Order: sequence, then C-alpha cells, then structure tokens
Amino acid sequence: MYEVLLFYKYVKIDDPSAFKEEHVQACKELGIVGRIIVAEEGLNGTVSGAPEQTNAYMALLQSDERFSDMIFKVESSAVQAFKKIKIKVKPEIVNFNLADDVNPNETTGTHLSPKEWLEAMQQEDVVILDARNTYEYDLGHFKNAIRPDIETFRELPDWIRNNFSQYKEKKVLTYCTGGIRCEKFSGFLVKEGFKDVSQLDGGIITYGYDPEVKGKLWDGKCYVFDERISVPVNRTGEAVIVGTCCHCGDPEERYVKCGNPECNKHLLMCENCEQKEKRSCSKGCAEHPRNRYVMENSLL
Ligand SMILES: [Zn+2]
Ligand SMILES: [Zn+2]
Repeated sequence: MYEVLLFYKYVKIDDPSAFKEEHVQACKELGIVGRIIVAEEGLNGTVSGAPEQTNAYMALLQSDERFSDMIFKVESSAVQAFKKIKIKVKPEIVNFNLADDVNPNETTGTHLSPKEWLEAMQQEDVVILDARNTYEYDLGHFKNAIRPDIETFRELPDWIRNNFSQYKEKKVLTYCTGGIRCEKFSGFLVKEGFKDVSQLDGGIITYGYDPEVKGKLWDGKCYVFDERISVPVNRTGEAVIVGTCCHCGDPEERYVKCGNPECNKHLLMCENCEQKEKRSCSKGCAEHPRNRYVMENSLL
C-alpha cells in the first residue's frame, strides 16, 4: 500500500533554484516520487511513497518554518502514483498567467469547509462554477455545476469575461481538485467585480474524505494528474457515472490520450471504440503516420 500526498502553499521562497536542488536530494534520500513545482510565490506538489516515506516527507517539509502549517491531503493508493521525482522551477505554482496577477494572501474568496460547501450548494439562487478543464469536468463534477469550455486553466479568465459576467450579483461557488487553482481564481473573480465569491477549501479531494459529507452531491469520479488518472469522491452509495465514451456515448470512466502523438487530447473512450477508432478523436488523428495505437498493436 502506498500513500499519495497533495499539498500547496502560497508563501515567499526567495531562491527557488537553490530550494529545488536541496529538495530533489532530500526526496531521493527518502525514496519519495512525484511532481513538485517551486516558484517565488510558493510550493505545489503531489508525491507518493510507502507510508513511512510519506510520513518522513511531511515531517521534513514541516520542519521548515515556511511550511510548518502546510496542510497535506493524504490518500491511500494500491499503486505508486509516479515513476520518479521531478521538481521544476516556474514563474507560478499553477499557470494562470494573468497580466494583473492576484496574490491569494491579499485577495481571495470566502473559504468554505466541506460541510459549509454542501449547505451552500443547496441554497437557492447560487451558481456553482467548476474551475477545471472540460476533460476533468466530463469525468465527474458537482450536480448542476457550470462547465467552462476550456482546455487549460490559463483560458479561464477570458472564458469568464465572455460567458459568465451576468452572474456578478449572484453568490458564486467555485471549486477545483485540491483548492489551489481557486486560490487565485476566486481573487480574480473578486477583482472582476463579482460580489459574493466562495471556494471549496481543500478542493474536491478533501470534500470526498470528509467523514460527515462523504462526497455528497458529487457525480462521477475526480480526474487526477498522476498515474491513477481518477479517484472516487462520492462515498454515500449514491454515486452515478457521468462520463460517456466520446464515440458511442456509452457510460465510460476510462481515459486515453488521442493516438496522434501531435494531438494528445484526453478522451473518454470505451475499449470497443478504442479498437475501432484507433484510439483517436478524429479521422485525421486515426490516420496519422505515427498513431500510437497502430504502432503498439502493429497493425501496419
Ligand atoms: Zn464507445
Ligand atoms: Zn486527436
């Protein structure tokens, strides 16, 4: 059995490159694998290992006073969620790329606990807004949530300006996987003039593990950016499948990457259609000379 840790914190890191060098070494010594982003604005990571390794990792990070109050979301997993450790230095810990950047320690929405969130969702006249990408939404989402038509988080501000400004006077509830995207996004909404913005604290993952709410009103699964691809959220026994195969429309929760190595679109696709359509989103991709499905199955 392994443990997967999700964590982030917006806190000033003066020398991200030096931090990275030291941290890679420490992770290697602990045998921790995963993906971590370091920026001057903070730290964002998902790592996995055996419980004694992840415990040692949490203790290590919390021994640094910048991260002493770091909150870890801990999940157990039958598989290692990563193959190796990869740490990158970037300008932001989540790529939002706003001309007028938001500091979540200064401007942000109201943080709601899972219990408060569940109550808020059931109020009348609220707008529930998914802050994730279409392929994440399509596998699972909160009931009645709005689905922004975006492929990456960077596209969200423009989508909001073009499609969502009619809700400025409403109570807006926004959520993402672990809460990190909402930190800046809710601040962005506030700056854009939205009057009442709330975000799910700790994101979908925390919501799913809350012993009281048990992931209530979540349909489908939650997409995650590691080898597991998806994790369950709704533990009430009322979970339904919302994903459908992009070709035949049958219920499906299995993701594949388009077989065209230059396309790589995330596609929900059944095994039948994978074979028929050569794991591709379109005819053009199916006929690509380096189609991965064709090469793997040497149908050439
Ligand atoms: Zn199908
Ligand atoms: Zn494609």
